[in-house]
Amino acid sequence: MRLKTMGLRNKIFFSIVGVILFISAAIALLARGILIKSLTEELTQRGVAIAQSLAEQARGPILDKNVPELVALVFDAAELGDRKHLIDYIFITDDHGEMLAHTFIRPYPEDLTRANLLEATRMRAISETTVFDRPVYDIAVPVTEGIYRIGSVHVGFNKGHIDQLVAKLRITFLGFISLIVVIIFLITLKLTSYITRPLRRLTRLADEISRGNFDLPMEMKALSGGYQLQECPAYRNTDMPCWHFDQARGENTPSRTVPENQPQCRECRFYRRPEQGDEMDQLADSFYNMLWSIKLYRRRLGESEEKYRSMFDSGPDPIFVVGTNTMAILDANPRAAEVYGFDNRDQLIGVSFLELDPDFNEEFFTRYEEAVSEFPTYSYSKLVHYTRDKSPFFVNLNACPISYMGRQAVIIAATDVTETMEKEAQLIQASKMKTLGEMSAGVAHEINQPLNAIKIGSDYLNMMTKSGKEIPAQSMLKVTDEMGVQVERATEIINTLRAFGRKADLTQERCNINKSIQDVLTLAGHQLKHADLRMELDLDEGLPPILAHDNRLQQVLFNLVTNAGDAISQRQDTPPGGHVITIRTFARDGQVVVQIADTGVGIPEKARGKVFEPFYTTKETGQGMGLGLSITYGIVKDYGGDIRIISDENQGTTFILTFPAIKEDR
Ligand code: ADP
Repeated sequence: MRLKTMGLRNKIFFSIVGVILFISAAIALLARGILIKSLTEELTQRGVAIAQSLAEQARGPILDKNVPELVALVFDAAELGDRKHLIDYIFITDDHGEMLAHTFIRPYPEDLTRANLLEATRMRAISETTVFDRPVYDIAVPVTEGIYRIGSVHVGFNKGHIDQLVAKLRITFLGFISLIVVIIFLITLKLTSYITRPLRRLTRLADEISRGNFDLPMEMKALSGGYQLQECPAYRNTDMPCWHFDQARGENTPSRTVPENQPQCRECRFYRRPEQGDEMDQLADSFYNMLWSIKLYRRRLGESEEKYRSMFDSGPDPIFVVGTNTMAILDANPRAAEVYGFDNRDQLIGVSFLELDPDFNEEFFTRYEEAVSEFPTYSYSKLVHYTRDKSPFFVNLNACPISYMGRQAVIIAATDVTETMEKEAQLIQASKMKTLGEMSAGVAHEINQPLNAIKIGSDYLNMMTKSGKEIPAQSMLKVTDEMGVQVERATEIINTLRAFGRKADLTQERCNINKSIQDVLTLAGHQLKHADLRMELDLDEGLPPILAHDNRLQQVLFNLVTNAGDAISQRQDTPPGGHVITIRTFARDGQVVVQIADTGVGIPEKARGKVFEPFYTTKETGQGMGLGLSITYGIVKDYGGDIRIISDENQGTTFILTFPAIKEDR
């Protein structure tokens, strides 16, 4: 096992055991050397003492040459007490080295007397030798009389016996050391598992959490006084976890204490006091608190997710989550599947959003970062979307950048406005029919003129034919030409009228607003014929087209022009230059501008904000319904345009319309 991969428990365990073993081995070696040395020294001293005592007793018998007494002496000394195991032999020699007495029961080895020679000046000699193949320590001391040496005493110590004693000592000592090591080993084992147990518990918990198992047995301890978790001041507060009142917070943070009205917090297990437990306990406490907090946040997150999911799923409008990079639909609600003609929402997942909305502003997706920081929501109105089987319908869109499962995405809510638009169209149509009614007298007059001209022509031809007069070819041509022109004029009026009365398509087309102005004047011209009224047109020939519906534009213009005519009629006096309605068109900054100015009564300031409200009218009952300007406003806004009023009371009013021009380079 490599040190790195070794568990903390084993590391601590092996380190302690290693150190103990090393120390024990050192002590054992040291003590063994010392013990053996002192034991050997002790025994040698004993041998010397025995030899010296013998030398003392042997002095007389040597001088008397009393060998039997010497023999008795050596045997007595050798047999005394426990010496017989230790002493191998004793012998006494005279000063020439001649054997006087010995304890050998067989012929003594001759060379033994020379094995450990005692020099004249020395008081003892110790030498290791062998006797009959047995190792011995030979200890020799002199026997002296006055200053003369008269002999020597040799005591042979059994080296095998000494070695046996040493071995016994060594075993006892090693046994003792081993016992200590085993005890320390067991203590270390217990200690390491005690130290690492909380860590192992935390590791197990952390493992479970990383596997997504949060249902761990760590419910909040029931507190005395029936204190419920829900009553915790931090319970519902996402910014304030339980250890808000933790005294153990960092040294730099101001210490927080339990508020007066929350004494229960002191009993809460999450209220951690710094003095509670050791570092490991505190770590475990922190871990549990962290875990508890994660559980709490997860639950809140889950609840919130559930709430939004149910809103998402049960939303009455289609909602999509679209990935910014792929433009693929990542998620959608059941309503989206229903509205867009899919069997279920799974069929929508992965489909490109551009299949539903081919014209969707892709730029929005690519400018995601900017969109996040600058434009939290985008709104689009009356876009054409397509169902799965390619049937078009109209929607208003709200798009907002979000992060979805770690990916950049856009959440898009679409509201089907087809029905509303149809209702609007019906309203506009109804108002148009009313306008047509108003125009009928003027139109009849307009058509009457060419009819009259044709009648005159036909009467002339009839009269000439009846009277049998020859019609000059020149006159014939002129009359038929004129009749043709008048028929064309009548046809044009009728066509314009038909176009005006036609219900507009829902999709927009390129329109030239100058043409719409001309058509309106063709139809409404008669109504505007007033004694002192002039029409002045200043139309920019190079006006760019706009995206709109021609007959709705006509309706807008008709409303404005007839209102202008009415305002002029209402004015009592006549301005110096007479009454005039001026229609001006021009292009500016990518916009097409239409100004319709009159010299009528003007709109009082306080009424200016109200004129676009439905049913606001100052005209007599039966004269006006108050819908003209509100419908006008709706139509102009539909085309992305704007409408403003400049008015001076009793001076006149100017309506300024602006529409975004179609960029020709597109
Ligand atoms: P109606 O013409 O049926 O009254 P409108 O919505 O077209 O309904 O106009 C609302 C009111 O706005 C008019 O009754 C009138 O008081 C005022 N108004 C509209 N155009 C003009 C104008 N050019 N000059 C003065 N007042 C106007």
